[in-house]
Amino acid sequence: GIQCLTTASAALEEPITPPVQVSYTKLLINGNFVDSASGKTFPTLDPRTGEVIAHVAEGDAEDIDRAVVAARKAFDEGPWPKMTAYERSRILNRFADLIEKHNDEIAALETWDNGKPYEQAALGEIPMVARLFRYYAGWADKIHGLIVPADTPHHVQVLHEPIGVAGQIIPWNFPLLMFSWKVGPALACGNTIVLKTAEQTPLSALFVAKLLHEAGLPEGVLNVVSGYGPTAGAALASHMDVDKLAFTGSTVTGKIVQQLASRSNLKPVTLELGGKSPMIIMDDADIDQAVELAHFALFFNQGQCCCAGSRTFVHESIYDEFVEKAKARALKRVVGDPFKKGVEQGPQIDEEQFNKILHFIKSGVDGGATLVSGGERYGDRGYFIKPTIFSDVKDGMEIAKEEIFGPVQSILKFKDLDEVIRRANASRYGLAAGVFTKSLDNANTLTRALRVGTVWINCFDVFDAAIPFGGYKMSGYGREKGFDSLKNYLQIKAVVTSLKNPAWL
Ligand code: NAD
Repeated sequence: GIQCLTTASAALEEPITPPVQVSYTKLLINGNFVDSASGKTFPTLDPRTGEVIAHVAEGDAEDIDRAVVAARKAFDEGPWPKMTAYERSRILNRFADLIEKHNDEIAALETWDNGKPYEQAALGEIPMVARLFRYYAGWADKIHGLIVPADTPHHVQVLHEPIGVAGQIIPWNFPLLMFSWKVGPALACGNTIVLKTAEQTPLSALFVAKLLHEAGLPEGVLNVVSGYGPTAGAALASHMDVDKLAFTGSTVTGKIVQQLASRSNLKPVTLELGGKSPMIIMDDADIDQAVELAHFALFFNQGQCCCAGSRTFVHESIYDEFVEKAKARALKRVVGDPFKKGVEQGPQIDEEQFNKILHFIKSGVDGGATLVSGGERYGDRGYFIKPTIFSDVKDGMEIAKEEIFGPVQSILKFKDLDEVIRRANASRYGLAAGVFTKSLDNANTLTRALRVGTVWINCFDVFDAAIPFGGYKMSGYGREKGFDSLKNYLQIKAVVTSLKNPAWL
């Protein structure tokens, strides 16, 4: 009780004034910041307080259409796809320089709009965004097709061409990181883009889009439309002149955008969707390290990660000790104003997610799981939730099946390897998994058996620019980052030329 009182009062302090101002709130179409066609705006809120940060131009179908027209023109008439790949690569590198130069300002915008700890944004995410663009700058002049041998006297070239106008819809949990995973490969391949940001977090993308133009991006190549999903998002997914759609968000919305794409012009779609990732702690694990890693795997980014280790499977022989230590760690987690030094956890993104998480917590209690820590809001304003742990969680419970997307750790008990493999795989999702063990044999068995797009062994949430990321099953398809991401943005053309009297085939 005393613990709750002290932590709760901390949230009552006056919110720290963000060290940044909002400079851009309009839509970015054809290189210019413009009002929406309807003249409408929507408020973007500070999740620490629920207060308005800024009113942002609200794009809908007409604005998406204007943006697609600009992107189409920039693609068809150039100069972007006609530029040398080296020049494109130089622009992407200059953009990375500018991100580094404005790192702290960008991080502050991200924290203000999203609620994530400023230190994590400034030291982790924004530098990673710059790194992503350098990585794709490196690819730009190394993308090429190939020549293949034919059985007949023909010279056969396979050309890799840009796919055209890419539509990209991104979520609010890592606004700029998701921007970089989508925009980086699309630009490296010579495409033009219409990007719709999440309505909760429109600010940082507008800021960096301006920097990208400063770096030399021609007008119309990247258009950024802020707005809501069912209006702007749906218009982008169903636009007849968009050649490819990339989406990250919930599985429910993923199904919708795929249908919109197929009902319109059959544009290919890549989907990065939800997850319910297992974090498996074997009996040979160092318990203190395992507790810390499992804590990070779930609570990082306020639990708002598609790959969150949200089913913590712990071997029965260490279960009770693990739960006790996990509780101690959760109680020590520093929750508060994300601009404050040392804060590990800020507010959830908005009231809707906040209420959804509290609903899941109630369902855990009602379903018979043991509430070990947290379980309620933190403070009395904004969308803070205390780090919450459930033990005695059973596979059939809602909290073990559904994506909570919040600071709620569910700890499940298992007996042996075969059992945990079966249970870990018994999910509609297949995004990621964590394994903590000293046994190479256990690690190898799990690596092969788990039906997921990423397996982290004795680590979690390692996101290098070069490592492909994406899901099995209902976690989506297609891969982002790494070499594989380029395939999403390339069209393949076979050119067959007749050879007269060739000396060799
Ligand atoms: P969402 O899937 O609805 O939103 C993601 C993006 O899709 C946003 O830009 C949104 O505006 C857009 N969108 C929404 N409806 C659309 C439509 N009909 N047509 C086109 N675009 C549309 O996610 P949400 O409502 O913000 O969050 C709900 C849940 O989604 C979360 O609780 C979490 O479980 C999951 N989620 C997953 C990720 C991820 O990284 N995989 C990210 C955010 C949210």
